[in-house]
Amino acid sequence: MIHVLHISTECYPAAKAGGMGDVVGALPHYLPKSGVLASVIIPKYKTKWIAVQEWTFVQSFSLDLAGNRYTCTIEQLESETLNFPLYVMDIKGLFDRSSIYLDTDGEAFHDEAERYIAFQRSVLDWLLLENPFDVLHCHDHMTGLITFMIKYCDVYQPIKHLPTIFTIHNGQYRGIMNWSVKSMLPSFDEKDAGILDWDGHINGMATAVKCAHYVTTVSPTYMEEMKYLPDSISLLFQSEANKSIGILNGIDDVQWNPKKDAMIDYQLKTSINRFKSENKRALAQRYAFDANRIVIGFIGRFATQKGVDLLVEAYSAYLEAKNAIHFFILGSGDKNLEHDIRRLQEKYRHNVTAVIAYSEKTAHQVYAASDYLIMPSRFEPCGLNQFYSMKYATIPIVRKTGGLKDSVPDIGDDGLGITFEQASKEDILYSLQRVEALHSNKSNVNSLREKLVKQNNSWTKSAKAYSLIYQNVLG
Ligand code: ADP
Repeated sequence: MIHVLHISTECYPAAKAGGMGDVVGALPHYLPKSGVLASVIIPKYKTKWIAVQEWTFVQSFSLDLAGNRYTCTIEQLESETLNFPLYVMDIKGLFDRSSIYLDTDGEAFHDEAERYIAFQRSVLDWLLLENPFDVLHCHDHMTGLITFMIKYCDVYQPIKHLPTIFTIHNGQYRGIMNWSVKSMLPSFDEKDAGILDWDGHINGMATAVKCAHYVTTVSPTYMEEMKYLPDSISLLFQSEANKSIGILNGIDDVQWNPKKDAMIDYQLKTSINRFKSENKRALAQRYAFDANRIVIGFIGRFATQKGVDLLVEAYSAYLEAKNAIHFFILGSGDKNLEHDIRRLQEKYRHNVTAVIAYSEKTAHQVYAASDYLIMPSRFEPCGLNQFYSMKYATIPIVRKTGGLKDSVPDIGDDGLGITFEQASKEDILYSLQRVEALHSNKSNVNSLREKLVKQNNSWTKSAKAYSLIYQNVLG
């Protein structure tokens, strides 16, 4: 069996901020069926889940980072509940914080560069001491410099044979750092310094696209989109096209199973309609809204990427004229957007529920209770919400971009959801009209719900695609 080490800053249920956490927590379950044993290493944060687990000591050593000395301790999860080995890297002073990325003011931690470089170096230092792995799989820019260090830094020459895969979960975040952080990297030949550079800065993502043996994005359309951005980085994706591929994410169908989900109010038995109506009734009761209206959910980070500003505009315009829909919004993030969503709720309190929080349980309840789930993303590397909503018989409304385009064909083409072209208020409003038209025909809604729950979006297929890549890089 090929043994892969996933190196990541998130892994559900230990630490999750978004889709990457879901992917790293799920893919390793599905790889063994394709002949791959997968382990995961993440930093040891002070999350609730990590704090209550039992951990076994694996290794300890010290790390010098531009004059600062840290003790790095690796521990392995004792319990076998995850079905794959999970390691945590404990670096006191850098990762023993309850939040993964953001400080209390909502901004990224000021010592971001130091944290990521320390984590990446410590993982490679561990592999110098003991290495049972055949392939290293790095996730997003936070682990991108590994692909460079293992090839070009003198100290890592003993493990330079290890191939690296780099997966981009979100190409907007690139790990752009001032060249002064070079002092935190181990020594390498000056002639190789340019490999770290993009537009005058060290760039974690660009470096990994250059150095990794294989580059993947989390959907085929997103890989194509990366080649045609109004941005010089597209040239890099074009020139590295022959080692790049988009693989659509799947979902963990054990974790996301409406028949067994303990977080929802009513589990799916034989009747899908009963499942939907009972969950909707419970959510409506909990948040005091009218369950007779159509419910459209939104779950996600409040960021421009997700089109939250467009929702505010479109919902306001809709609610000035009509009130057939109740909008349920769950999310947090950008403080201005949080403010705008609160105001929307205040103004239209009979038609808008806003939960400004991160809550796994509420998310499950919203997937189960909503009639529709909207994703008006400006770009979407894959998106997982559309898969979860389908599994819970909730009709997706998506903008045709990235993974949303790859996974939700329009009902006009005998597909699975309502889709639209432009990230605009007008296109969202038109989709709301289509929702009302569709919803007035109960039998169409029922047959679409039946079709949605039958979709197989589990990881099985994509796990095979990753396994082929691992075989490929091992020659
Ligand atoms: P992202 O760009 O944030 O990674 P994805 O669609 O890939 O977006 O994944 C989002 C994941 O995070 C899903 O599992 C979704 O249910 C979850 N999520 C997002 N916001 C919240 C929230 N406020 N509360 C609970 N879960 C959330």
